[in-house]
Amino acid sequence: MNVKDYILLSAQDIANGVREKRFTAREVTECALSLIKQRDKEINAVITLCEEKALAKADEIDALVASGNAGNIRLLGVPYVASDNICTAGIKTTCASHMLDNWTPFYDATVVTLLEKEGAILLGKTNMDEFAMGSTTESSIFGATKNPRNASRVPGGPFGGSAAAVAAGYVPFALASDTGGSVRQPAAYCGVQGFKPSYGQVSRFGVIACASSFDQVGYMTRSSSDVALLTDILAVADEKNDSTCDAYDRPVFTKEVANFDIKGKKIAVLTGFDKALLDEKIIEAEKKAVEILRGKGAEVFEVDLPIAREHSAACYYMTVLGDASSKLACFDGMRYGYHEDGKNLMDMYKNTREHGFGDEVKKRILIGTSILTRGFYENYFEPSIKVRSMIKDEFDDLFKKADAVLAPISTELAPLIGESATNKTKTYLSDALASLANLVGLPSFSVSLEQDSECVSLQVMSQRFEDSTAVALAKCLEDSFGTPKAAE
Ligand code: GLN
Repeated sequence: MNVKDYILLSAQDIANGVREKRFTAREVTECALSLIKQRDKEINAVITLCEEKALAKADEIDALVASGNAGNIRLLGVPYVASDNICTAGIKTTCASHMLDNWTPFYDATVVTLLEKEGAILLGKTNMDEFAMGSTTESSIFGATKNPRNASRVPGGPFGGSAAAVAAGYVPFALASDTGGSVRQPAAYCGVQGFKPSYGQVSRFGVIACASSFDQVGYMTRSSSDVALLTDILAVADEKNDSTCDAYDRPVFTKEVANFDIKGKKIAVLTGFDKALLDEKIIEAEKKAVEILRGKGAEVFEVDLPIAREHSAACYYMTVLGDASSKLACFDGMRYGYHEDGKNLMDMYKNTREHGFGDEVKKRILIGTSILTRGFYENYFEPSIKVRSMIKDEFDDLFKKADAVLAPISTELAPLIGESATNKTKTYLSDALASLANLVGLPSFSVSLEQDSECVSLQVMSQRFEDSTAVALAKCLEDSFGTPKAAE
């Protein structure tokens, strides 16, 4: 196995190759590790490499195959990486923050346990914006990550490290979480596929919360078929550990995607967004996608959801900041991570939080805490919650006449490194479209249509718990536009 062949393989190709003894899990792992060592000094996607553990696991997998007991293990010898807010037993989990830079959990997140059971091999933890707040992966204590398809551009964020790792070919898939687009927007900027399942579909146990009423684990891949497979593996009830991840009867997603018939499916295209805000390349790609979907037999029509269109970004940021400020209260210098002494208890809190958190996180805690105080709560937080449910009502009505919704995932293409800091408002507003799925709890697939030095993606959303519709439609687009390849 050499690197050139390795980067062409999907997760399923690797599992099949290991099972059929065309190559070994050790060969695959060594290939992935050598690629990371060769390219990651420049890209800076991986912040903790688990070389020894990964090779030991690869040898276990090879022994299992040799003994004839590999059975139907679905990710046999498949390397992957996980963002550094996903707990990994015995491996540092820092949230790219000074607050946790020395914290090592003693347990795995449920998603990590599920992947381990299926034979996947964790190669490392990836870079992110501190505490998953941001859109560019520039606010990490480990420095910025670069976009593998164009080193002068950001990889998106907060989980640019995971997206860059898939785009650079280190791994066929990566885990991250999605609160307001943080799996799908970096996937779009790096030219790979990104999927956020329905809220409640996948367990978040062991994922350090950003904003609990929004957070969901998602994944980046190069192939949409791998998304379906990962959904089969990860969408498992975990009521004991995550009460939102309930025991409804989950379908076999791979089967539903394989049997999907696009003929007659009703697809609503969101319109009304200020065209001046949207990059021209996104508008052009959307026109092409509509033609393709129509050509395959779908019925495509335009809709305008005025409340979602006007208020999604403001509503998202109001509610998410309130949510985040209460979540981050647990980092008090006593229970986990960084601690700094003070003259008294209050002083200790102040010193710890002032020096433990970076600027963006402190800004969000301050705003979030103020909008939860009396007066501001009634004027900002409460109305935002009401607007959130009005946006949900708009989508509920829409889904009476549509099977899926097509929309841009971000208003812009990957900005240059350093550019977002000069216009933060523009960056916040660029989340208006990605955050819709989080506000309402919908599954959303960010499908990559072009992967040149400026990548273009669109998102497909479907009804909550009808994840396979979004995946299947994204696959229809991937079949026409081509499966993204790793960046050379
Ligand atoms: N850009 C969004 C934000 O900064 C994304 C957050 C996320 O999904 N974790 O809030």
